[in-house]
Amino acid sequence: MDHLPQKLTDQFGRQVDYIRLSITDRCDFRCQYCMAEDMTFLPRNEVLSLEECARLVKVFVKLGVTKVRITGGEPLVRKNAQWLFKEIGQLNGLKELVLTTNGSQLTKQAKQLHQAGVKRINISVDSLIPERFKQITRIGDLNKVLSGIDSAIQVGFEGIKLNTVLMRGINDDEATDLVQYAIDKKIDISFIEEMPLGEVNHARKNTFVSNTDTLKRLQDNYTLLPSTETTGGPAKYWRVANSDTKIGFISPHSHNFCESCNRVRITCKGELYLCLGQEDKIELMPLLRDNPENDMPLIEAIINSMTIKPKGHDFDLQRAAPAVVRFMSHTGG
Ligand code: SAM
Ligand code: SF4
Repeated sequence: MDHLPQKLTDQFGRQVDYIRLSITDRCDFRCQYCMAEDMTFLPRNEVLSLEECARLVKVFVKLGVTKVRITGGEPLVRKNAQWLFKEIGQLNGLKELVLTTNGSQLTKQAKQLHQAGVKRINISVDSLIPERFKQITRIGDLNKVLSGIDSAIQVGFEGIKLNTVLMRGINDDEATDLVQYAIDKKIDISFIEEMPLGEVNHARKNTFVSNTDTLKRLQDNYTLLPSTETTGGPAKYWRVANSDTKIGFISPHSHNFCESCNRVRITCKGELYLCLGQEDKIELMPLLRDNPENDMPLIEAIINSMTIKPKGHDFDLQRAAPAVVRFMSHTGG
């Protein structure tokens, strides 16, 4: 291929300019909706090295990707993760390097992340009650996460957003408290609907809370102004009147956003998933390892993968088994 296309465009004319890269399947928490308690993690040699991650991101940026989100597992428990952030942060053509984290390592790492060029951080918090937080994450320490959020605020990222999964009878009574916490800290918050990923027998129908219900509940307490902001993803935003806070509602069960989908996901094993809710993927690891000095096979495979990006996803809570049985920690959130 003599000339690289400037952009990755799929068969429906959607331009892919955003990648989400999971750099580890490991985590220091075991959130109920994300991982099994006795999770078996991948052997080291089946996970992309940090050098391979950097090489992949470089190739995607050459192909017109302007936004990269690093996720996991918990990305900040990967040894030497800061090296990768520095490498990616320097890439010409990349406009936004962002991160999704559980916040447990931020007191130690927030400053370095900011220096490496990370612009915005999403921090997952499902409860502000320590015992409940421990129950949901199985081992997480809420105080460590709250200190991590304070460290991130002090460092001065362009944006900090909390991510919250509400579950009926578990933490759905905390929607207002979590929003108030975000308002007090002058940061944003998004509510993510629980997705049917992971363990087959988890009774998600019983714990599922729709964002429509959450929005109604919050409107009883706050004046919310609809915002037209979009990231090409499944989020709708509202501004809380007289505050610096925006509330996002991420509703992956709605199909409305698929037509403007601008993203693909790469797992820590180097699988390129073209849609969060579908099985369509290609394996990038062999292309990286078989061609250590030559990026062309990788580039061609990525360009060709655009022809199999599905039109939309297929989540259905009424089914006996999840549409896609894949742990979030594997795919990356
Ligand atoms: N460990 C980091 C964290 O927790 O932010 C990054 C990875 S985690 C897989 C990314 C996001 O996925 C988190 O906000 C988490 O709440 C969300 N998540 C995990 N499993 C989910 C599920 N089954 N449904 C909806 N969101 C889920
Ligand atoms: Fe770990 Fe994040 Fe999954 Fe929780 S949601 S188990 S913090 S990867």
